[in-house]
This record gives sequence, C-alpha cells and structure tokens, in this order.
Amino acid sequence: MPESQASSAPAPSDFIRDIVAEDVAEKRFSQIVTRFPPEPNGYLHIGHAKSICLNFGIARENSGRCNLRMDDTNPAKEEVEYVESITADVRWLIGGWADQVLGLHASGQPYYASDYFEQLYEFAEALIRKGRAYVCDLSPEETELYRGAPDKPGRDSPFRGRSVDENLDLFRRMRAGEYPDGARTLRAKIDMASPNIWLRDPLLYRIRHAEHHHTGAKWPIYPLYDYAHCLSDYLEGITHSICTLEFEVHRPLYDWILGALDLPRARPRQYEFAKLNLSYTLFSKRRLLQLVGEKIVSGWDDPRMPTLAGARRRGVPAASIRRLAAQVGVTKYDSVTDVALFEHIIREDLNGAALRRMAVLRPVKVVLTNLGPDEALECAATNDPQNEAPTTRPVALTRDLYIEADDFAEVPPPKYFRLKPGGEVRLKYACIIRCDEVVKDASGQVAELRCTADLGSRQGGPNADRKVKGTVHWVSASRSAAAQVRLYDRLFVVPEPGASENFIQHVNPRSLETVTARIEPALAQARPGEAYQFERLGYFVLDAADSAPGRPVFNRTITLRDTWAK
Ligand code: ATP
Ligand code: MG
Repeated sequence: MPESQASSAPAPSDFIRDIVAEDVAEKRFSQIVTRFPPEPNGYLHIGHAKSICLNFGIARENSGRCNLRMDDTNPAKEEVEYVESITADVRWLIGGWADQVLGLHASGQPYYASDYFEQLYEFAEALIRKGRAYVCDLSPEETELYRGAPDKPGRDSPFRGRSVDENLDLFRRMRAGEYPDGARTLRAKIDMASPNIWLRDPLLYRIRHAEHHHTGAKWPIYPLYDYAHCLSDYLEGITHSICTLEFEVHRPLYDWILGALDLPRARPRQYEFAKLNLSYTLFSKRRLLQLVGEKIVSGWDDPRMPTLAGARRRGVPAASIRRLAAQVGVTKYDSVTDVALFEHIIREDLNGAALRRMAVLRPVKVVLTNLGPDEALECAATNDPQNEAPTTRPVALTRDLYIEADDFAEVPPPKYFRLKPGGEVRLKYACIIRCDEVVKDASGQVAELRCTADLGSRQGGPNADRKVKGTVHWVSASRSAAAQVRLYDRLFVVPEPGASENFIQHVNPRSLETVTARIEPALAQARPGEAYQFERLGYFVLDAADSAPGRPVFNRTITLRDTWAK
C-alpha cells in the first residue's frame, strides 16, 4: 500500500485507543506521550512491530510523541550494534511518520534508560530515607528461598530492619564499588506475604562490576527492570506506558514505586496487550541469537529471519508489516496469527507495487531455427499491468533463448500445457513456438530444444489471436545476464517451532536454494529496495549487501501463490 493511502486509512480502534481517547476528551494531559522501550540485546522482530505500530500509531493519531528508549539496565547482553539496528529499523518501519512522532533525545540519539542512572540512584536514596527500601545481604539463592511460592507466603529477610542510616551507608558503598557482585542488593520494603510475588520485597538494585555499552565502567550497581522502567517513564513524561500481558502482574509494583516517592508531576500509567505470535515463526531473542550463533542463518538480517532487518532485506514492504499489525488488532487474549495472513498481505502489496520482469531460474536452451543468428525481433513487454495505463519496455526475441527447464517435459504428464515434443506454447509477449527436436548431450541431458517460431502470431501479426493452452516466460540468450538468485522459504517446517526447546530440529532444510538464473537486461539495472515480479515465479528484490556491479544477487521475497496451503 502506498504511504499516502496508509496514512489516510481510518484510525483503528481498540481498548487501549479507547482509554487514550477518553483521556484526550477529558483533557487529562497536554500531550499524549508513549514510548517504545526495547532492550538492545538483539534485533527487532515482527513481534516488536506490533508494539511499535501501536505506540507510534497512538502518538500520531493524537498529535503526540513516542519516545524511542533503549531499556539498557542489564550490561551483560547489550551492545551498540543492537542500538544502531534498532534505531534504523524503527525509522524504516514507521517511515514517513518519523518526523511527526519519533521522540528522540536532544542529541538526536534515542533515549537511554542508562542516562537516568544518576536520577534513579537519587530516587533510591529517597526511598531509603522514607524507610521504604533496605540493603539486603541474602545471597541470590537465599533471596529465592525467602520469597516463598505463589501459594506460600515469603519470610522477612533478617536485614529488613536495618536503620535508615545503615541502609544509606551501605547503599553508598555499593555505589562506590566496595562489594563484589551479588554480595548485597537494594530491595523495596513492601510485603513478604503479598499474594503477588512481585510485591515480596522485590530487588531494586544489584551489584555488577561490568562494562556497560553506554555508561562504560561508571556503575558497579545496576537497577532492575521494574524499578528503572516506571521511573524512566516518569522522567520522560510518558502518559501511557503500553506493554505486553506478562507485565500485568508487575503493574502493582510499577504503581507502588511511583507512589512511594513524592513525585510532583503526573504519573504514567501502564496498560497491557497481547503479544503477536506468528505460526512457523520464532520471536524469542534468545533463540534468534542461537540461530545466528550456530550459523543456521547468515546473520540477524538473513532474509529468512523474522527480524525487521531480515524482512527488509528479503523485500517485505514496511507497509505490509504495518498492515499486519493493524489487521491482528490489539486485544488482551494471547493467540497465534497464521503466517499465511502475513504472506497474503505481502503478496497483495507487492502485486500492486512490483514492476514485471522476465527471468529464467533454471534455464534450458531453445533455438528458433527459422530465425537468423543476428536477427532480433523487438517485442513489447508490459511493466505494470496493475496500473490503469500500463507501460511497456522492449525485449528482443533472438534465435537462441532460455526457458525454464520445468516448462518442458519430454514425457509430459496428462494435461501438460507447456512445451513438449511436437507441442506448442506461447512465449509471453512474443509468439507461439513448436518444439521440433530435442537435442541431448553425451550424458543424456537435454542440451537444446530446436523449435520453429510462428512469427505471424506476434502482436499485430496475422495470427496474433491464435490460441494455445500454455504461455511461458523466456529470455534471449545473448541479451540476458547471469544473476545469483536466492529462493527463500519458511525457516521452520512446523507451525509452532517454539514449542520445544530443541527447535533447531524443525529448521526447514530447504529454506534456501541458490540458483544461477538468466535475467533480462532491464533487471541488470535493478535498484535495491525496488520490488520486481519475475513473471510466473514470484516477487524478488536486489540484495543490496551482496550484489556487486555486474554481479547482481536477487532474493525471493515470496512466491506468487501459497505453496504451503493444503
Ligand atoms: P525477549 O525476546 O528477550 O523476551 P522482548 O521481545 O521482550 O525480549 P524487549 O526488547 O523487551 O524484547 O521488547 C521491547 C518491547 O516490545 C516491549 O514493550 C515488549 O513488550 C514488546 N514486544 C516484544 N515482543 C513482542 C511481541 N511478540 N508482540 C508485541 N510486542 C512485543
Ligand atoms: Mg523484554
């Protein structure tokens, strides 16, 4: 769908948008501010796109803003490479909306939760002074034991009764780096008997002597997600903090922390929605990292990956991902979306957008014996039949051609309408040919098909209307170029690859086939990011990373029809 159409579509509605609409109607905020807070420990995937479309969509529909924030409180797994890919992928996905709604730091960089470490530290001292946080010396294992279970209340830590002064002193020493990893924690003093396990004196800070991708070696202590998140939201003036369902049980803690501090400004509120799950697809970053690490794919942007970078490289339009997000909607119920819906959207969008071209993936040679070796008959091939006033380009019909190997059958099955010995077929945009002779090489392989062209069946010729049952695509042998074409298919062969820990066994062994194709001259000029329909084959895009001048590489985005449907 073109950008203009996408943005003029009526705004969808859902329970979160209804809440925002009421807040707007009641004038509760001067501006609606949302955020998208990925942890930079991997690349963004199509699941994240649902959250991006929701958060940026709400901002756009309400003339608000959506902050891009790196949720970077865990130094161990976070990297600058991920920060950069996340920023680029968000911009790509939201496209033209970026200028309107993308909230960035004054530096032009995304926001970083780690930029708030100093303020978060001050808030922590404030909680200690109020008697609402304490330093605990229990080991991680002991802390776990003391926490109890959902049906069994926890026990108070023996360190719960420490004085404010002692807590302040210990916490300052934690910050000064005086203790080893894991020796102490800062905990909220809430209720060890709470039915909500997240309220049983949750950890706020832990000691980690680690290099952080953004703050370097400055901090030996790191805040935990629940503590950092609500306060980062507050500091940025977020009005609606929208996250996925698993955080619903954390919401009382989110509210407790904000409520325990004397905060002068309006507090953000958290709302939860169901994640996007797609059949035949994995979204867990840990598992995607495993696919990359074990070299089952070529990287995070391998076109088979469910990442935004992979989808872009594969030729999936950003608008198709936005349409998927809009069609699945926003609910409170977990469900699995059929990947066929996504594929259908991609086909629909590419059908409208892609220029038609001819390429032969597995060439077999055809010789038109009634054409001279230097003869070249110009034919007009349609570029854009989907448009009201289609345009054409010239393609040359020459004596030597290539057609698709599987468009010929020496021993044809019943109802085979493509080329067979003695049979006829139409070369698209050109003329009808008849196969007179099958020439084989020493090994018995078909070397060439000697055919006669009915030149009168060309456009404007006396036999132009003559009908035969089959039409095949082709390229001239001398006026075509070689290209590497990567035929991608679904990465997993089972609908729920994530159901077992051993998901690697479900990788599709035929998810990538590489062929050396022949492409018509117009494709030698292909530009990255432009979609092409190779007639009768599917949608393809130039691979920007691996193509070189004179050595194009194409990726198949998707076949023309669903080959997985029963
Ligand atoms: P992991 O795969 O490691 O569990 P994550 O996918 O939760 O990580 P985050 O970086 O924390 O990764 O996600 C950023 C935001 O995207 C969060 O607000 C999260 O709720 C949301 N999000 C993640 N996965 C999905 C999904 N499948 N559908 C919708 N939103 C998602
Ligand atoms: Mg997460």
